[in-house]
Amino acid sequence: MARVAFIGLGNMGGGMAANLAKAGHHVVAFDLSKDALDRAAAHGCSIADHAEAAVADVDAVVTMLPAGKHVAEVYRTNVLLNAPKSAILIDCSTIDVATAKAVEGEAGFAGFNMVDAPVSGGIAAAEGGTLTFMVGGSAEGFERARLYLEAMGKAVIHAGGAGAGQAAKICNNMLLGATMAATCEAFVLARKLGLDEQKFFDISSKASGQSWSMTSYCPVPGVGPETPADRGYEGGFAAALMLKDLKLAMEAAEAAGAYTPMGGEAEELYQRFVDRGGAAKDFSCLIKMIDDSWAAPADSNTPVPPVTALD
Ligand code: NAD
Repeated sequence: MARVAFIGLGNMGGGMAANLAKAGHHVVAFDLSKDALDRAAAHGCSIADHAEAAVADVDAVVTMLPAGKHVAEVYRTNVLLNAPKSAILIDCSTIDVATAKAVEGEAGFAGFNMVDAPVSGGIAAAEGGTLTFMVGGSAEGFERARLYLEAMGKAVIHAGGAGAGQAAKICNNMLLGATMAATCEAFVLARKLGLDEQKFFDISSKASGQSWSMTSYCPVPGVGPETPADRGYEGGFAAALMLKDLKLAMEAAEAAGAYTPMGGEAEELYQRFVDRGGAAKDFSCLIKMIDDSWAAPADSNTPVPPVTALD
């Protein structure tokens, strides 16, 4: 089996590194957090003292970092200077398309094959090895990366050239943010018009208003399959991460000259929700801001202006 460096062992990377180790790879892990390293060691990974040591003499490097600036820094100062040129470089973080293309270009110039491979699926999918990977890079890079990605996911799809994985990820999540916001609005209006929510679900989930946000992730508790709405909007996909992805989509739209008014509206709504203390709640909790029943958690330091006074 191969020797794999894994950098970034947080909520997502911790489970992913554990699955690579479970598949029989020798995983050499590095993170700035000691707790994260201790958890990785408990899941069968070897621990490196620094990133340079982690990437020396490996067959693959996998990174799962918070944002583009972390990815650029780790590749420019650690990976590209210390990993063997024969190693396939795989960045699974969700980052802006421009940084992904720039870093992949620099890696190629330095003689490496690198792919962007962001994921769909949250912490439970990372732990369960059921992520979906959307991969940007050359056909050869995709085939080499697939060996490692299949140990961490249920689907690995080649989206296109460098940056195409990130493009697919943010376009998908822009669509998700906008359909969730529209689904929340429709349920609130239905209720105000005197419609029973279950009846509205029964009708709309089989009519032209149907979407994943309604049929698989309904924001109304007790309606449809079990979702975070049935658990007080805990767990699931945090509103802060939806906001991050919508911001990346809006940045990319501006750079590409694409008109995305629905994505822009969704970004504004999620920004307001996060500003009102909703960052850690599942993104479907937006319905509580739309129906004006949102109360920020007691430990939230964020002042909550009345929703009805929104601009
Ligand atoms: P996280 O903050 O839990 O983990 C990031 C880890 O990177 C931390 O442990 C941090 O210490 C480490 N790190 C930061 N800079 C570093 C450096 N220079 N060297 C080594 N380690 C460093 O974040 P997460 O929730 O695991 O998300 C990781 C990525 O996955 C993000 O890009 C996020 O947008 C994406 N993502 C997250 C989810 C989710 O549900 N959490 C779902 C899909 C995609």
